[in-house]
Formats: sequence, structure tokens, C-alpha cells
Amino acid sequence: MTITDFPTTASGVRSPIPDHPAPTPGERALAAARFHLAEASRFLGLEDGLHHMLATPRRSLTVSVPVRREDGRLEVVQGHRVQHNLSRGPAKGGIRFHPDTDLAEVTALAMWMTWKCALVGIPYGGATGGVAVDPATLTTRELERVTRRYVNEILPLLGPEKDIPAPDVGTDEQTMAWIMDTYSANAGYSAPGVVTGKPTALGGSPGRAGATSRGVRIAALQALTRTLGASSPEGTTVAVQGFGKVGALAAQYLADAGCRVVAVSDAGGAVVRPSGLDVAALRAHAAETGTVHGYRDADALSHEELLELDVDMLVPAALDGVITAGNAPRVRARLVVEGANGPTTPEADRILAGNGVTVVPDILANAGGVIVSYLEWVQNTQAYSWSAGEVEVKLRDLMENAYRAVADLAAERDLTLRQAAHAIGVERVAEAHRIRGLYP
Ligand code: NAD
Repeated sequence: MTITDFPTTASGVRSPIPDHPAPTPGERALAAARFHLAEASRFLGLEDGLHHMLATPRRSLTVSVPVRREDGRLEVVQGHRVQHNLSRGPAKGGIRFHPDTDLAEVTALAMWMTWKCALVGIPYGGATGGVAVDPATLTTRELERVTRRYVNEILPLLGPEKDIPAPDVGTDEQTMAWIMDTYSANAGYSAPGVVTGKPTALGGSPGRAGATSRGVRIAALQALTRTLGASSPEGTTVAVQGFGKVGALAAQYLADAGCRVVAVSDAGGAVVRPSGLDVAALRAHAAETGTVHGYRDADALSHEELLELDVDMLVPAALDGVITAGNAPRVRARLVVEGANGPTTPEADRILAGNGVTVVPDILANAGGVIVSYLEWVQNTQAYSWSAGEVEVKLRDLMENAYRAVADLAAERDLTLRQAAHAIGVERVAEAHRIRGLYP
């Protein structure tokens, strides 16, 4: 299907929702990403050809990754790396290990990365990679073999000046260390700048580990005070979906800022304590048992109930497509801060906006990760290092500037924060295309 095949919705925007009956979660994510692009293109008056170009990834590579299991069996899993756009700099984006990941999902994530980097003003294009494995079912040695073989297969795309991966769902600092080592072994020299989110012993930046979550906190506090007019975050009630790298530290930092985190969930279950959870104790419990489920000082809750709690702020920080037309009418939070990429479908977005819910979109709310990744890469390429304090000041500046630009445009042109964020990101990429011209 090409973008010109998309049916037209009542609002006149071509909807990229595929018309076959059961799109995969990845196809839904890509349809959502293209819907936001179509809205922004219409708002900006982009010519059709440029819109079509931006709706299509620049390069996509799908690879088979053979993996030898501990019991001697040979299994083959599929991996992808998509570079959506390279007009503003090298490609940048996470690598996801998740059984449901597919080419469509990775393409959507790569597209969001393009707008995110442009929105916060860092010189990258967008990329994302994924391998369809469940890391929880692999031993550490199997995981290392999958990682190294996948990297070997996508090697022609990677490089500090070409495409720089980072952690995402199911990958972490150790994964980045294996990627850096595999790339460096092939290159014949150490290339720390080929990945970000590495351990500090290999050139990782101080402050990268919690950067996405600190960015979520900055965006949440800006929204509370600037957009919703609260005098302070003190006592703001919060529910967080997802207790991984982004969600657990977002919960911690929001609690540190004075919010009352009343509920959190992960794949294993959800817990609630109306008087406020002890997030540090909960993190210790999750580190020990692998899930928040079973935490003693809280009651159990269903995954669905968490999204519909009567709280001030909801932070989805797990996977895409979780707030849908089905549950959006029951979301009672007045502020949704998207730690995850693509957690809200376009239909749900419309319902939330109609109900007066403010949504701080993913490409703004979770940009702290790629901002500090950029700072890590700058330090690597200069063979220089900054203190955690210096990194924090730069993160805060870039996040607050981006929030201000989005909130101002939204107020000026009566847009949602998502529409304004996309308008700014897409326009900056379109401008780069116009100035560079078309080769040949
Ligand atoms: P992660 O793998 O560390 O954590 C994911 C969490 O989601 C886990 O706690 C998992 O148990 C939970 N989860 C899975 N299914 C769930 C369900 N149905 N209900 C509740 N929880 C569920 O991944 P992460 O790096 O924290 O990424 C989370 C989201 O944030 C993703 O959308 C990712 O793209 C986005 N993101 C991550 C970064 C980063 O720096 N890691 C940066 C920007 C955006």
C-alpha cells in the first residue's frame, strides 16, 4: 500500500489505517506514525512528493539471525534495522529485543526518532532496529550470540558517522557493550562512538542510564506548571505503566520531585497503594523478584485498571498501542506523559483531547534518552568527558527549550501538544531536504 492509497477521514486527513481486518501491533504503530505525519504535512502545506518521501523509510534491512541454543539446537530469528531519514545527520535510534517486533513497528519507531531528534535540535536522522526474540527465554550466552550475529548482519549500515544504536525494550548497557565490541573487532580499532547507552567503563556518559526518565520528569513538571497551571508538583498523584529502564526511574524521579506515585505495573502485574508507594523499596523488590507483582506493601490491580485509575498523571512507559479507542473514554488522568513510544493510538488521542486530557507526546516526553545519547556521542567523538552536572544542565536546557517551543505553537495555533511537536519536527526535516536539494 502506498500513502496515496490511504482513505480520507471525515477531517480530510488521509488515514493510513490498513483496511485488512487484523493489522499487527507493528502495522498499527506505523499507521499511527503516518497519520501524525499526514496531519503535520497538511498543517505545513508540504508538497505531496515530500510528504510521500517522509512517509517512506530511506533504508530497511531485514536479516536472518541464526542462534545456537545451549542444548545444541539451531534456531533462526528475524532482525531489522531501518534508517528512516538522514537529512539532518547520521541515523540514531534504539535496538529492541521483543518477540512481537516486526518491520512495520521498527519503521514506525525510526520515523518517530526522526521527528524527535529534529524537535529537540540534535543533528541526527531517525533509525530503529529490532530482533524478534524474547530475551527472558535466552541465557546470557545465547543473548550475546544473538546480539553479535545480528550486529554482524547489519554491520554495513552501522558506524559512528553512519548509524548509532542505543538501548530500547529488552536491551541494555551490556547489549551496547557487545555491539561496540563486535563493531570494533570488525573495524580493527575501538569505536566507542558506534553506540550510546554503553557502560561508563567503555565511554558511556555520566547520566545516560536515567536520562530518558529524567527527561520524562522535566516534561511532566513543565506540563504541570506551564500547561496546567499547578503551583508545584507536591502531592500530584501518578500511575506508571511499565517498570523497566524508563518507567522505574521515572516513578522514582517523580516521587523525588514530590509527586505521590500510587500505582505501577510491569508485564508480571500491577500494584496500587493510594497513600503512595515507596518507589525505592518497590525497585528493590522488582530487582530481586523480576516483577513488581507480589510487592507486600500494596494491593494487586489489573493491567487495565491501572490505566483507568483516578490519578492526576498517567505515565505509559511500556509498549505502543496501549491507550486505544476502547479504554480512552475511561482514562481519568488529566495529564498523560508518554514515556513509551506510540502508547496512544490516533483514535484515543482524539478522545482524550475531547475529554480535556493533556497528552505530552512521546517525541517530546521521552527525548531525554536521545539527548544524553547525543551528549555521549559528542564526548566519544571528541575523546573528552563532561561531568554528570554538565550533562544534566544540557539535558534540562534542550528539554525545556523543546517544551516551550511546542507549548507556544500549540497555544498560538490551537493545536494539541502532539500536533505542535510533529509540526516543528517535520518542518525542520522538510527544511533540511529543501536546502540540500534532490540528488541527482
Ligand atoms: P524495558 O524493556 O526496560 O521495560 C519495559 C517494561 O514494560 C518492563 O517493565 C515490562 O515488564 C513492561 N511491560 C511489558 N508489557 C507490559 C504490559 N502489558 N503492562 C505493563 N507493563 C508491561 O524497556 P524501556 O527501555 O524501559 O522502554 C519502555 C518504552 O520506552 C518503550 O516504548 C521504548 O521505546 C521507550 N523509550 C525507551 C528509551 C530508553 O532509553 N530505554 C528511550 C526513549 C523511549
